[in-house]
Amino acid sequence: MKPIKVGVVGAGQLGRMMALAGIPMGIQFCFLDRTVDAPAAGLGEIHLGSFDDPAAIGALAEQVDVLTFDVENVPATALRAVEDIVTVAPGATALETTQDRLSEKKLFHTLGIRTAGFIAVDSKESLANAAQRLGFPCVVKTRRFGYDGRGQRFLRTGDDIDKAWQTFSGHDLIVEQFIAFEREVSLVSVRAHTGDTHFYALTENVHANGILHHSNAPYGNRALQQEAQEHAQSIMEQLDYVGVMTIEFFVVNGELLANEIAPRVHNSGHWTIEGAVTSQFANHIRAICHLPIGNCDATGHSAMVNFLGTLPTPADCLTIDRLHFHDYGKSPRPSRKIGHATIVCDTRQDCEQRTAQLMKLYEADLQTPG
Ligand code: AMP
Repeated sequence: MKPIKVGVVGAGQLGRMMALAGIPMGIQFCFLDRTVDAPAAGLGEIHLGSFDDPAAIGALAEQVDVLTFDVENVPATALRAVEDIVTVAPGATALETTQDRLSEKKLFHTLGIRTAGFIAVDSKESLANAAQRLGFPCVVKTRRFGYDGRGQRFLRTGDDIDKAWQTFSGHDLIVEQFIAFEREVSLVSVRAHTGDTHFYALTENVHANGILHHSNAPYGNRALQQEAQEHAQSIMEQLDYVGVMTIEFFVVNGELLANEIAPRVHNSGHWTIEGAVTSQFANHIRAICHLPIGNCDATGHSAMVNFLGTLPTPADCLTIDRLHFHDYGKSPRPSRKIGHATIVCDTRQDCEQRTAQLMKLYEADLQTPG
């Protein structure tokens, strides 16, 4: 049988992990990226080009059976243009809806999913009015292209408005109520073209400066797990979604408020590589290639720690029992996600103990010059 060929727009660490999961199933990969030495290099041919170039996306689509993406800033129109010649999953409509914080919030509301209060703004006056109505502090975010804390600013008082308007001038904006959340959690789900939908355990996420720092799973709250799954199911049905999708939530007074949807595999699901029966990457590839979805059960308690800007010494980390080390092969830059480690244990207590060991070691490494 002819092997299935998947084209991935973006050859970053997510594309790399998709290929690492798909290659053992006999699936072939090629990528579109701006550089030939991107993290997925070596796992398939890299077509040089820009993610937002419709001609480059069209050329990639010509070469493959299925097209997917590991970045969100792909023009939905470029995907729609190739939907007739190749399977595109997730589809252009799903990407388009989740790319814009306003249409995403409207989708949540249509489906009865609660969010922070928000107001879309398009001038300094409307920004000031929105902040007054929502109250300080509040958060101003660009509607598109924000990630890892970029494209957002907290407004503490009216004095912060001028600066925020200058910073984001030219962007469509949304202002959100500030949520004093107890925790942040995310749900990674996967839906097949048949509508068959599966869910991973709810994951607790800790961010630093808007960037994911570490995750723990399973979060272990049955009622919230059930509620999150119902939300994911209705969103995926509404978008006729195929592949892996992630929803990030705030937990406030023991209830869920939806923050945003990532129409792709997600950093908070990296623990599934070693900590679930089938990883989010394997399941994304299975779903988009019309293969049956694999079991999503967690095999133990997992902790995933991101390496941001600096990689600790692998030989030191690997002294920790049950630790798995990932190096994305990216050049270090402050706050850049360049690797992660996952620890999977039978008990939460063991997992926490080993994670503390890793954090201590990483901090010591950060303080060692050279
Ligand atoms: P986002 O890009 O929307 O995922 O935001 C990145 C991080 O900023 C979130 O994970 C939160 O830690 C924080 N954040 C975003 N929106 C809010 C909000 N409305 N209230 C409080 N914290 C927020």
